[in-house]
Amino acid sequence: MRRPLLAGNWKMHTTVLDAYLLVAEIGKCSAGLKDRDVLLAPPYIALHAVSSVLHDSDIIVASQNVCWEENGAFTGEISPTMVKAVGGTAAIIGHSERRQIFHEDDEMINKRLRGALKFGLMPILCIGETLEEREGENTFAILEGQLRKGLAGASSEDMGRTVIAYEPVWAIGTGKTATKEQAQEVHAFIRKLLAEIFEKDIADSVRILYGGSVKPDNVDELMAQPDIDGALVGGAALDAESFCRIINFT
Ligand code: PEP
Repeated sequence: MRRPLLAGNWKMHTTVLDAYLLVAEIGKCSAGLKDRDVLLAPPYIALHAVSSVLHDSDIIVASQNVCWEENGAFTGEISPTMVKAVGGTAAIIGHSERRQIFHEDDEMINKRLRGALKFGLMPILCIGETLEEREGENTFAILEGQLRKGLAGASSEDMGRTVIAYEPVWAIGTGKTATKEQAQEVHAFIRKLLAEIFEKDIADSVRILYGGSVKPDNVDELMAQPDIDGALVGGAALDAESFCRIINFT
């Protein structure tokens, strides 16, 4: 049985003060949720504020990306040990905005994933096709490439704390959600692929999140799909009421 994981990616939103206010609200509405995990990924500058508010909560704090080195000449980057030092235990890796706007390729994403694993963070590897790729019927080939290359070098043991997020690029921030059937089809494909790369037991235990315009009014039907184990939420994670409804999905 896979434990649901509801993750909020705040992207480049919230000052430290905004982050304090938002996390306080989310802390209240997530207290008492024993059968699911909640994760927040604030901007780096608010990681410490958010994890200090959450010090006696089970909410997981994540960075929105992470470098593969512990320290060094990597201007603008954050290291896994820095994330851990401020209470973070996870990192989003390979988000489509990193791939598209900042041109991170599969090789770099794989380095980041292996760095996160090496230093004990839980990586959330994001994969997803563009509209053009979907319309050209290349969805599965694109996802297979991103998954195989992103996970290169990860062991079966590493998969015990790795999460995959399927985020169709055409559904991110657009208000267009994949239908529950489209999402389920892809999630089942990813799980089958994980069974090929690793083994069935591993594939059955890995959490696969859906991301792309998840909102209070579609979360329940998405979460009812057999291979959807959670959600990675952008826009709706910035509104406490919406995110609280999402994490309280039924
Ligand atoms: C995201 O940022 O990963 C995301 C899915 O955003 P949104 O929920 O706004 O589509």
